[in-house]
Amino acid sequence: MLPTGRRLENLLRQQADVLHVGAANFCWFTDPSKALCLRLAAATTATRPLIGMCDSARCPQATHHREHRPVWADTADTISQFLGNPRVPPAEKRRLHHEHERAARVLDEIDAATASRGAHDDEPETHPR
Ligand code: SF4
Repeated sequence: MLPTGRRLENLLRQQADVLHVGAANFCWFTDPSKALCLRLAAATTATRPLIGMCDSARCPQATHHREHRPVWADTADTISQFLGNPRVPPAEKRRLHHEHERAARVLDEIDAATASRGAHDDEPETHPR
């Protein structure tokens, strides 16, 4: 078995010129026309992702891996706390509910991929829909 760094390097070579490593995902940026951050910013000629606008749960350029699970679990927990707060306005709760659904979906996909692939496989585990 290859170490994680080597596997990622090989994936990088096969998939993209540059792998952008985020706290919650890997951004492959193989097709800028499909990059959600660029579409949201109307920056269609950009040659790099806009990490500050990353919404990897909705972007087809992202993959989520086992090591990203804690970030998504923290996100889901934090959103749950806001959803339970009576001071949060209903409109904001509706928005948070959608965010919570996305975080829960990513967690479910990571868990399903991890269960089906074994503990040491570093292939991309999830792709946003
Ligand atoms: S939204 Fe995130 S994953 Fe998608 S291209 Fe932008 S930085 Fe990469």
